[in-house]
Amino acid sequence: MKLCRYDAGRTGIVLGDAIHDVSEIVRSGTAAAQASGMHPLPHILGVLAGLDDIATRPRVALESVRLDAPAWNPGKIVGAPVNYEAHVREMREQGVAPGHHIADIAEAGLFLKATSSIAGPAQGIALRFPERRTDHEIELVAVIGKAASSVAPEDALDHVAGYCLGLDITLRGAEDRSFRKSIDSYSILGPWLTTADEIADPQSLRLTLWNGTQLRQDASTAEMIFNVAKLIAYASSFYTLEPGDLFFTGTPRGVGPIAKGDLLRAQCPELGSMLVPVR
Ligand code: MN
Repeated sequence: MKLCRYDAGRTGIVLGDAIHDVSEIVRSGTAAAQASGMHPLPHILGVLAGLDDIATRPRVALESVRLDAPAWNPGKIVGAPVNYEAHVREMREQGVAPGHHIADIAEAGLFLKATSSIAGPAQGIALRFPERRTDHEIELVAVIGKAASSVAPEDALDHVAGYCLGLDITLRGAEDRSFRKSIDSYSILGPWLTTADEIADPQSLRLTLWNGTQLRQDASTAEMIFNVAKLIAYASSFYTLEPGDLFFTGTPRGVGPIAKGDLLRAQCPELGSMLVPVR
């Protein structure tokens, strides 16, 4: 199932080039979950999985809507800093982190981004410091569906509700990483949540990012140093991952600067494609 949020408050299931509106079901499901103290995401996914009339529900053309971030009140956004070998090399070569020791992920640990940085593709990236270098980082994002505390890698993927594409937009500079990556709209999510049952192997996804006509990033998640299961196990050895939490799993090589007026296109055959303007 591909679940999207669109037009500031609506929820739909994507079938081909159409969105079938399930806003009312999601609204009542969310209220029911919250009344019983549960996080709404696993509950609404369960309800929607049981629908057998999706194709007959009211539809709108995918290209006619404004896509919002497929996020459901995440308590935290977890980020993996150095998770592709070729990206680690380019960071060293370009010296974009002067004075910073670029450590192995097992040494560096993970970081957190503010949830207020979340934005959808239609909203785009509001560049805050145009005079400073700001980079795009395409990433696979895992959305947590079941609480995970001290889980083993072999059980970790049971805690994933689904996946989407993410852009971990990064202001370069000397400030703490969580500060530079937490600017409003610097966590782009989209185009929709693809539930985990549709992703046979999260380590065989091809991620590509264009800036205009220029291909900037093109890599497989097979190149991750810590795979998704190991990342979740690692994070959960420090804190509990809760339903709704978002896990940015690191970016491959090819990060590069963005500027006002740019149009980014992020794509993955299994997860969809999104256009993201830089404003
Ligand atoms: Mn990143």
